[in-house]
Amino acid sequence: MTLLKADGLTKSFYNGDLETVVLKGIDLALEPGEMVALQGPSGSGKSTLLNILGLLMQPTGGTLSFMDDRVSGLSEKQLSAIRNRHFGFVFQFHNLLPDFTAVENVAFPAAAPAGGLSKAMRKRAKSLLERVDLSDRLDYAANRLSGGQKQRVAVARALMNRPQLVFADEPTGSLDQENGARVMQLLREINREDKTTFLISTHDPDIAAICDRQINVVDGRIA
Ligand code: ADP
Ligand code: MG
Repeated sequence: MTLLKADGLTKSFYNGDLETVVLKGIDLALEPGEMVALQGPSGSGKSTLLNILGLLMQPTGGTLSFMDDRVSGLSEKQLSAIRNRHFGFVFQFHNLLPDFTAVENVAFPAAAPAGGLSKAMRKRAKSLLERVDLSDRLDYAANRLSGGQKQRVAVARALMNRPQLVFADEPTGSLDQENGARVMQLLREINREDKTTFLISTHDPDIAAICDRQINVVDGRIA
């Protein structure tokens, strides 16, 4: 089984009559358990590609399959069910809810669809925060945490629903070297221990080198 497969993905953005072609035909496959770096200079289309692969954005053309099932053409409701059940996301600027506590942020992907935070969710969120070394910050509001701590909360949140696949878009991009290395170490550990598949965009060769394999986006294509 291939976990995620893209064939001939294209993406254009339109601004009036002006077309910007960002992706010009991307083919790629992710196998279960891989940790893959998506490399390319700023503006090369890494975020666009991650958003399309993560079913957050529609491509202009091409097809996508998840676990050998075609997902192109599904309704937004069906796509969001796949995202919520199988995918986790870590963004460059963590996107935490600033007034929510660490536990509430981590539990959010389970609590939001359920309409509330259960005891079991709280327990899982706590254990994930322990895993990212934040057991002493469980009830801190996100806006009281440091940049590195926030990003570790974001990693814990991405794991809340036990995803098979985590997309991380420049997860270390807003961190200093030490905190960036710590977050990468954490992702590597989770990948090895849980067999979670990771696709991590970065323009940092040192970060890419930590992954099993590197995919390079150059001029809208895989180099
Ligand atoms: P990267 O993540 O590699 O820096 P992006 O995927 O963010 O690259 O952007 C790739 C190109 O697409 C850039 O030229 C950017 O300006 C353009 N782009 C991204 N999003 C939009 C959008 N919503 N509308 C128009 N152009 C966009
Ligand atoms: Mg980007």
